[in-house]
Amino acid sequence: MRLRIIKCETPVTRLNAVEEFLELPFKVYCKHDELTGFLTSGNKVRKLEFLLYDALRKNVDTVFTCGGIQSNHCRATAVAARQLGLDTVLFLRKKEDTPIQGNLLLDHMVGSRIEYLTEEEYRDIDAIFSSEKKIAESTGKKVYVIPEGGSNALGALGYVEAAREISHQLDLDEISAVYCAVGSVGTYAGMLAGLRLAGSKARALGINVTAASAETHREKAKALLQEMAHYGFSPRIRDKEIEILDGFQGPAYAVPSAEDLDLIRTLAKRTAFFLDPVYTAKAFRGALYTSREQFRNKNILFVHTGGIFSLFQEPQKYVEVPTRSM
Ligand SMILES: *Cc1c(COP(=O)(O)O)cnc(C)c1O
Repeated sequence: MRLRIIKCETPVTRLNAVEEFLELPFKVYCKHDELTGFLTSGNKVRKLEFLLYDALRKNVDTVFTCGGIQSNHCRATAVAARQLGLDTVLFLRKKEDTPIQGNLLLDHMVGSRIEYLTEEEYRDIDAIFSSEKKIAESTGKKVYVIPEGGSNALGALGYVEAAREISHQLDLDEISAVYCAVGSVGTYAGMLAGLRLAGSKARALGINVTAASAETHREKAKALLQEMAHYGFSPRIRDKEIEILDGFQGPAYAVPSAEDLDLIRTLAKRTAFFLDPVYTAKAFRGALYTSREQFRNKNILFVHTGGIFSLFQEPQKYVEVPTRSM
């Protein structure tokens, strides 16, 4: 039911240096899903193992998907699809004057067709998908559409699988809470389902990094958990176990706060633990903040979901870049 795009288990380590440097009163373990691959690094490829299996089974030749201009999901999709011999069309939310760098550079390099949409056009993405699909099909192509972030119930199974992997790597009975960033919700929903299926009672805490409210995300998580039953996964989960927290979004989606930037810079400099400005810095800050109160002397697990290429967009945010030209 899935492809093996990720070639080995990603490690779980204890972040000793981070604990010491920040003088944390709890232990932090990390599931290193920034190591799911090189060009396919991050959480999205776990969903793509299921989604692209389905695409190949349906004999398509072209994959459509969508996201922000620096979408990790679109980059992972473009790379993985090309490795499988499929073409991709990416529908990206355009910003003014977008330089081709970071994830967008990689999208171009693997030969994706890129369609830039305004914020307003992007709101009708489903209509755009269906009209573009019709056009492509009229020229003989077979198209598979992957929703934003790969977050449908099938994609979310990637994190049911990740939770199973984790359950063989450490004693989940010792873990009080598992934290991850929440964007399109598939990672969180899959993780929560996977933890319960693995028999873990750890709290699953999602940190919202988008403009949509935590309540909206909870509804989506609930819907995804129900739809997973189509694939034979139906853990019993009460509504109050779906814990998605607001308060760490910063100024806007993909815009880090001063505290996020400070955390990225100091952890890199002092411990070489790298966070990205869109997802993991916000999620890690949320994890540290809430754990100080709730999980004193306990163990937490942070799921590092990747995002490294976003760091290459605006280097001046992380180091002083000399302006001298010679
Ligand atoms: C997409 C993404 C997330 C959020 O995962 P969702 O399943 O969309 O909620 C977290 N971290 C990184 C680096 C991502 O690219």
